[in-house]
Parts: sequence; structure tokens; C-alpha cells
Amino acid sequence: MPRQPLRVLISGASVAGPMVAYWLCRQGFAVTVVERMPLARVRTSGHAVDLFGPAMDVADWTGVLPAVMVALGAGAAFARPALLIAIATAIAGAAAAFYYSRAGLALTHYDARAHLVVARRILDSLMPGWQQIGAVWLPLPHVLNMLPVQIDAWYRTGASAIAISVMSMAAGAWALASLIIRRTGSVSAAIQRRNVPPQSADARRMWSSA
Ligand SMILES: Cc1cc2nc3c(=O)[nH]c(=O)nc-3n(C[C@H](O)[C@H](O)[C@H](O)COP(=O)(O)OP(=O)(O)OC[C@H]3O[C@@H](n4cnc5c(N)ncnc54)[C@H](O)[C@@H]3O)c2cc1C
Repeated sequence: MPRQPLRVLISGASVAGPMVAYWLCRQGFAVTVVERMPLARVRTSGHAVDLFGPAMDVADWTGVLPAVMVALGAGAAFARPALLIAIATAIAGAAAAFYYSRAGLALTHYDARAHLVVARRILDSLMPGWQQIGAVWLPLPHVLNMLPVQIDAWYRTGASAIAISVMSMAAGAWALASLIIRRTGSVSAAIQRRNVPPQSADARRMWSSA
């Protein structure tokens, strides 16, 4: 005869009650939640709360994070800080490029010139063609730069390659910041590019059992 699931009574249907009920149900318990507040006084329009740290983790594990983000106007929640981080990264990159170009040091490293040669020779060499993409490096920078670098001034100064690098760095910063903010809700973690582990022992235990 199959065993009856253990019955659990939870008092309070605010935040903790339904959440504990959810996780206990997932473990096979038979859960009843009671609430003393009259139904007429229960809010149907939601609560104005900040979600951060462990609350983001728990929302993620229970699968409601996408819905929470939509309710928050997801874009607004994490797109703007990520965009600002990307813009700051682009400004820093442009300032560094300006400084080193003025000092005549932009192409000091031999590899910088070699990348330009590989990009240009795809279309401009004795035997142009896709075979020219081949080098010890991955091909994406050369493919992106193969048209701009046909302009002599940009080829000699590396201007287009530098612009592509700075834009790529900014795009990478935006993608990383978006991911980190979406996952942790922490803008400072996104700036420092570090992962924030679940902050409480309970959250860590839940994570390991999810
Ligand atoms: C002004 C304010 C702003 C806050 N803002 C935030 C925020 O932005 N972000 C955030 O994460 N946290 C916020 N908090 C904290 C958050 O509201 C609480 O941590 C959270 O509500 C605790 O949830 P809980 O379920 O443990 O308890 P409670 O929310 O207190 O819920 C207890 C429930 O049990 C019911 N109950 C009590 N006794 C009985 C009984 N005998 N029988 C049946 N039911 C009973 C009550 O009616 C109630 O619904 C805020 C708190 C306050 C006061």
C-alpha cells in the first residue's frame, strides 16, 4: 500500500508561507496553508517590494523570475545600468586609444600589425580569398575588419581595428553586466564582474536541493 504523504499545516500566506509550501509540495508533502486575514483584505494588486540577493535566487529557482521581470518592466530593471556600464567602458577604451595613438604607440606590438595584414590580405594580396583568413588567431576580428582595412589611412593607423576592439569591449561589458544584474540584482557586482553566491545558508541549502 502506498504511503500517505506527510501532512503539513502552514500558518500565514504572505511571503514565506506560500514559498515553504511550494518547496514542501515539490518534496511530496501534503501542504495546507491558512491565513487569518479576511479574504476581502487580501491585496490582489501585488506589493511594492525590492527584490535583491537571495530573493532573486529563490525567484529564479521557483521559475517565477521571468514573470517577475516582465512585471517589473524587465528591460528597465537591468538594461539601463548595463547600458551605462557599456558606455563607460567605451569611453575608457576610446580615451586609451586616443592616448596611445597620440603617443605613436597604437601599433607598437608586432601582433597588432600582423592582425591588420591578415585582415587586408583577404581581399588585397597576390592570391586573395578565404584561405587568407587563416592565421594562428581566431578569424572574427579579421573578417570584421577586412572591408574597413582596405582604406589605406585606416590600415596604416589601425583606426578601424581599434574602433572594432573598443566597440567589442563595450558590447562584452554590456552582455556581462546584463547577465550579472539579471542573476544577482546587484549593479556593483556587475561593475566588479564578480559572481555573488547565495547570501544565506538557507538559500545555499535550497540551491543544492533544487
Ligand atoms: C514597510 C516594509 C517594507 C518592506 N520592504 C521590503 C522589500 O522591499 N523587500 C523585501 O524583500 N522585504 C521587505 N520587507 C520585509 C518583508 O515584508 C518581510 O520580510 C516579509 O513580509 C516576511 O514574510 P513572512 O511571510 O515571513 O511574514 P509576514 O509577511 O509578516 O506574513 C505573516 C502572515 O501570517 C499571517 N498570520 C499571522 N498569524 C496568523 C495566524 N494565527 N493564523 C493565520 N495566519 C496568520 C499574517 O496575516 C501574514 O499574512 C518590508 C517590510 C516592511 C514592514
